[in-house]
Amino acid sequence: MAEAVCLGELLIDMVSEMDASLSDAPRFLKAPGGAPANVAVGLQRLGTSASFVGSVGDDPFGEFLIETLKNENVDVSSISKSNIARTTIAFVATRRDGKKDICFYRNPGADMQLRAEDLSQRTFDNARLFHCGSVSLSENPCRDAQFHAAKVARENGLLVSFDPNWRPSLWKNYEEARELIHAMFPLSDIVKIADEEWEFVTGTSDFPEGAAQIRALGPKLVVITKGADGAYFNCDGAEGEVAGFLANAIDTLGAGDAFVAGLLHQLLQHRVLEDALNHATLSRIVRFANACGAIATQTAGAIPSLPTKTEVEAFLN
Ligand code: ADP
Repeated sequence: MAEAVCLGELLIDMVSEMDASLSDAPRFLKAPGGAPANVAVGLQRLGTSASFVGSVGDDPFGEFLIETLKNENVDVSSISKSNIARTTIAFVATRRDGKKDICFYRNPGADMQLRAEDLSQRTFDNARLFHCGSVSLSENPCRDAQFHAAKVARENGLLVSFDPNWRPSLWKNYEEARELIHAMFPLSDIVKIADEEWEFVTGTSDFPEGAAQIRALGPKLVVITKGADGAYFNCDGAEGEVAGFLANAIDTLGAGDAFVAGLLHQLLQHRVLEDALNHATLSRIVRFANACGAIATQTAGAIPSLPTKTEVEAFLN
């Protein structure tokens, strides 16, 4: 089985490539998507074997998504097919200023149908890392499945990584979203948050103050991504910023997921997390992750833009 297990949404992104709102966009291009699935592909391309746990519909879109991950050598044996709901679809319009309009077709969507019973002990065989997000926290049964999986991962001694990746349109009640995101922290070792979500999640715009709050709940490492400006990291005894790379950015879709894949791939090179948690090593790791994010902005789409290890090494040289 794989070194890394990613759980969550695997869905179709219908992407408008024009600088127009969703209501004005005339055409959409079908693309595979879902943040945890992107991370699984990103890890696999960097050389960390990955498996994906999730649910798609028993329909042509579900087939397409499974095939896409298979072609990337991601282990798809833990993907289930729902006969209750269709494969989830998200329509996305990316504006020239980088802002995104997102509209989910998920009332219900197959990604929500993942159940705790769909996980087997084999899912975590030989794995060292478990990664998930917050889209699966918005509904049941996938919410219970994710909490169950994170607990089992911890019991099995895996590192747990959590990227809240908050999608406001999926939540009727923002307070509930914040509470569920906070309920994931005690189960997590590594938390990555984008700067635009920071204040919603922590209630402060201050990075050290918010990071201390999160770390008090259990996580050992907190990383905040800041778009073109790179990233900030905070752990016990080390804190710092690593500037971003100058990129010829055309589409930021997938940049955050490429960053997470780079960060996790590098952290797994260390036998124990604590070995990586010093200023010099973390700066090097975050620089690698920044390179992954920057490369991902230079190609359209999420999965097509995720870099291989060779591409990152060439970029860094
Ligand atoms: P998200 O996609 O989750 O909103 P960010 O926009 O913060 O996350 O991007 C994640 C990472 O990708 C950043 O920390 C940075 O390393 C890289 N990145 C994003 N946008 C750019 C850009 N315009 N130029 C260079 N690097 C970028």
